Amino acid sequence: MKCVIALMQHETNTFSPEPTTLGDFGRMFGCEKPPAGDEAIQVVAGVDMAVNAFIDLARAQGWDMDVPVAAWAEPGGLVEDAAFDALSDRICASISTGCDVVMLDLHGAMTTASYPDAEAELLSRIRVINPDVPIAVALDFHANLSQEFYDAATVVTGYRTYPHVDMYETGERAGRALLKVMKTDVDHELVSGWLPMLTHMIMQSPSFEPMKSIMDRAIEAEATGEVTTASVFGGFPLADAPQTGLSIVVSGEKGSPAHHGLLGELLKMAWAARHDFVYHPESLEETLTHSKTLTKGPIVLADHGDNSGAGGPHDNMAVLKMALNLGLDNLAVAPVPDPETVEQMWLAGEGHEIEVLLGGKVECPNLSILNEPLRIKGRVKKLVSGQFSITADMMTGMQFDLGRSAVLETDHAEIIVCEERTEPFDPAFFTYAGIDPTQKRYLLLKSRQHFRAGFEDMAAHILLVAGPGICSSDYGQFQFENLTRPMFPLDHDATVEPMDF
Ligand SMILES: [Zn+2]
Repeated sequence: MKCVIALMQHETNTFSPEPTTLGDFGRMFGCEKPPAGDEAIQVVAGVDMAVNAFIDLARAQGWDMDVPVAAWAEPGGLVEDAAFDALSDRICASISTGCDVVMLDLHGAMTTASYPDAEAELLSRIRVINPDVPIAVALDFHANLSQEFYDAATVVTGYRTYPHVDMYETGERAGRALLKVMKTDVDHELVSGWLPMLTHMIMQSPSFEPMKSIMDRAIEAEATGEVTTASVFGGFPLADAPQTGLSIVVSGEKGSPAHHGLLGELLKMAWAARHDFVYHPESLEETLTHSKTLTKGPIVLADHGDNSGAGGPHDNMAVLKMALNLGLDNLAVAPVPDPETVEQMWLAGEGHEIEVLLGGKVECPNLSILNEPLRIKGRVKKLVSGQFSITADMMTGMQFDLGRSAVLETDHAEIIVCEERTEPFDPAFFTYAGIDPTQKRYLLLKSRQHFRAGFEDMAAHILLVAGPGICSSDYGQFQFENLTRPMFPLDHDATVEPMDF
């Protein structure tokens, strides 16, 4: 038996001005281009990711294994067609030499200039080469997927958590289902459903309602054997593509009413809860003013409008500017990606006073927001390299490299500046620069949910801050052109037919 295992993950924010290149898919692993073969296995070794569950399964089964690519890029703008072709060519070339099983660790919301649903395109290319090979896919909870994708896959599972702390388990679930399909004579089928709902990501987490009941029911049905797999995908709303929306996929024995029934039940639950998935943010000034009334720290200020983890440039300074204007004190700011300022601070050297134009470098023409630098004076407190490893429950064991970094100290804040953009979800995003987050009154970071993996336990308070940016929860700001319409809540007249369930 030979299996082909590949990792190809990207969440594409189609409103981002920054295209995603082939090099971006290797940078996460410290490689110039996405690694392959033994190097691919080595860079993901020990990291909590689905691809490792696939590798462990192949080893346990004694299968020959080829890993043609391990590619993971930080969420961002459209993936360049050439990058997608290069990655899918590697996977297809491996499959074309002959294989019995394919296991893929994909995101599910990758979009390129030519392919709005890049994962469906990948699977269709595989099916041209081998129409019958079993394909198991583990996906992110934020997948936006089309019927074409589900028609081409054999097994599909999705993360059940947000923050995503069950990546490896999602791979294990896909592997278990795959073995069941391969080892029994019973015909197996996937059934899927999609709803015209742009759920607010801040309301999507299965940790709380309204998603909790829906996900719990899916988990129960899979655990008790009622169905083979059941996965609920909240969707990624910042993708202007026809398949964007909430979707559910359930599998079981062909002809059995159980999985069809469960699919309808879950779709009904999600649609009935659509108003509860709508987030109503308060103003930035209101939230920051409220934060001053709280007595105990650390207070996490989670700016979710410009968040690298949802494809944002991560350098909008509006929240920091207002926080300083309102007099917030003892503030630590998680790494702001700004290579120019880093260069300036490294040239100045530790201990020197400096004035910089911080952040605000990436223009966002798709949105009518002003992204401008913050002019700020301070002292270069520390220069440091940006390497550290993750100890929180999400992507545990992953090595990060934010590039050269520096800490700018002012009377009221310590601001980390770095070269690479990444969503902070682990205390190491502060400690690597010598800042103890537990000793700060305020922790200002750009994140929507993933920060909870590393900061929820230490925070006395968590405030969600509606900063401006291309990850805004105000969907009315975005010019959607390719979205299926009507779409709730953009269109309150969006409906689904009872027969759709
Ligand atoms: Zn996600």
